[in-house]
Amino acid sequence: MRELRESVIRLAQVPPEGLLFQGLIPARRLTRLNDAVGVVGEGVEVDLRLEPNNDVFLLHGRVQGEVELECESCRAGFRLPLAEDLRLTIDPNPEETLYRDPTQKGEVWVIDHSDEQIEAPEGQFDLVGNLEDEWLLELPISPRCAEDCKGLCPVCGTNLNEAECACSPAPRESPFDVLARLKTDK
Ligand SMILES: [Zn+2]
Ligand SMILES: [Zn+2]
Repeated sequence: MRELRESVIRLAQVPPEGLLFQGLIPARRLTRLNDAVGVVGEGVEVDLRLEPNNDVFLLHGRVQGEVELECESCRAGFRLPLAEDLRLTIDPNPEETLYRDPTQKGEVWVIDHSDEQIEAPEGQFDLVGNLEDEWLLELPISPRCAEDCKGLCPVCGTNLNEAECACSPAPRESPFDVLARLKTDK
């Protein structure tokens, strides 16, 4: 896979049909993401198109990559795929852009303060930097390896997803079995 060379894009040079960005963003160019969670493998593959759309630009396409996280509950490392579909709106003139309000008739214009817009000061769009920001925002606040992660035994620290320990009886064991074992243990 070809390495993506582009980094900062001059929006004024984007042709009406758009620009394609296809290739691998190597992990070493994603230092913030890599420092935060670790990028799995060589990096993140992208297949994206950047195109003008009225006063803004759209960046959309597919993403393939995984990050390595630590489960908050059992402390085991696990891999999380980045969201496959990417869609961002880039605003080259965040201060000035006016939008027609679709709910109003006539010449009513409002300034859109949507948080989803990415700013591109002076028409310069930092492709890799903004992708990295998106991926950092995507990270879960409380990462868990699985919905039903059993966590660690609070007494002995055994990872209960992998093994049982003496301090945590198996859930299906009947109380009589536990009693019987207590007797034989003594
Ligand atoms: Zn876990
Ligand atoms: Zn235990």
